[in-house]
Amino acid sequence: MAEEKQFDIVIVGGGPGGLTAGLYGSRANLKTVMIEKYMPGGQIANTEEVEDYPGFEHISGAELAMKMTDHAKKFGLEILSDEIIEIRSDGDYKKVAVGASGTEYVGKAMVVCTGGSPVLLNVPGEKELTGKGVSYCAICDGAFFRDKIITVVGGGDAAVEEAMFLTKFGSKVILIHRRDELRAQKVIQERAFKNKKLEFIWDSVVEEVNGDSKVESLSLKNVKTGEVSTLETAACFVFIGFHPNTHILPKEIALNESGYVTTDYKMETSVPGIFVCGDIREQLVRQITNAVGDGTTAAMAAVYRIEEMED
Ligand SMILES: Cc1cc2nc3c(=O)[nH]c(=O)nc-3n(C[C@H](O)[C@H](O)[C@H](O)COP(=O)(O)OP(=O)(O)OC[C@H]3O[C@@H](n4cnc5c(N)ncnc54)[C@H](O)[C@@H]3O)c2cc1C
Repeated sequence: MAEEKQFDIVIVGGGPGGLTAGLYGSRANLKTVMIEKYMPGGQIANTEEVEDYPGFEHISGAELAMKMTDHAKKFGLEILSDEIIEIRSDGDYKKVAVGASGTEYVGKAMVVCTGGSPVLLNVPGEKELTGKGVSYCAICDGAFFRDKIITVVGGGDAAVEEAMFLTKFGSKVILIHRRDELRAQKVIQERAFKNKKLEFIWDSVVEEVNGDSKVESLSLKNVKTGEVSTLETAACFVFIGFHPNTHILPKEIALNESGYVTTDYKMETSVPGIFVCGDIREQLVRQITNAVGDGTTAAMAAVYRIEEMED
């Protein structure tokens, strides 16, 4: 028989969304737990510099994560280390998160904020230079490359939209695509082709990201001719896909066509009592501020739901 631990609110995932939900849940005097498989902080824990979180002109991601963690703990949030492998809804009032450890975390409501991961190029130099010119977030890092040559990899809506956004900063932006035409919607393509600061390299893939302490150039290969070339650049933004971590959710939870969870204004999913927040959710932009806002709403909606059910 699995060990059961009982709480009011169970939060799965300890990024900015989970930490904020944890702060609000415990501050409302409910027995709140946050379960994280690695370290609290989520994607920001590995982010060199954050300069768009209100109130902090410059702060390292690790420090911001630590501050959020300490703040939530002060209100009584319990943080446990485990990997959740399945989430179940056993009726209106019992939500279960099954840990890889064998423990079942039972709550009257659940907030899932397991984020997602960008699809990587998986080429030499990419990992070593992430945060040093390799980036997966134009809003986060674009401003670090003012008046520099910026490259973008990808050909879908996200790549083309983000490339246009990056033309606000770079002396020019070069979009590298492995095919000879974009996959992005026609209306987005039309805007892109009119943008004088945006150039295109077709039929090409990145074979290596080069640089010692920061990105200096990319080794490219033309997939039609086999020709290899070097492109000097200060930054390589990669937009070839993003996977929301939804595989542990009950199958009845509705997702949109891109695999993100859809919610109502309370962050509640199609399964009552299960809420989501942050990058796992259908969003226009994926930022810390969104995750924090969603986390607030999700936790308070969970609090109100529990209060109503107990009345
Ligand atoms: C390199 C980089 C730089 C960025 N820079 C900025 C920036 O400067 N400003 C900004 O606003 N945004 C930035 N972002 C985006 C920002 O980090 C995200 O929008 C934000 O972290 C989303 O928060 P979240 O809580 O939804 O998810 P995440 O931060 O992804 O956290 C999810 C957490 O859930 C945990 N988890 C996942 N599955 C399980 C499981 N099964 N069991 C237990 N735990 C699990 C993960 O380990 C992780 O800790 C950046 C992102 C990246 C990748």
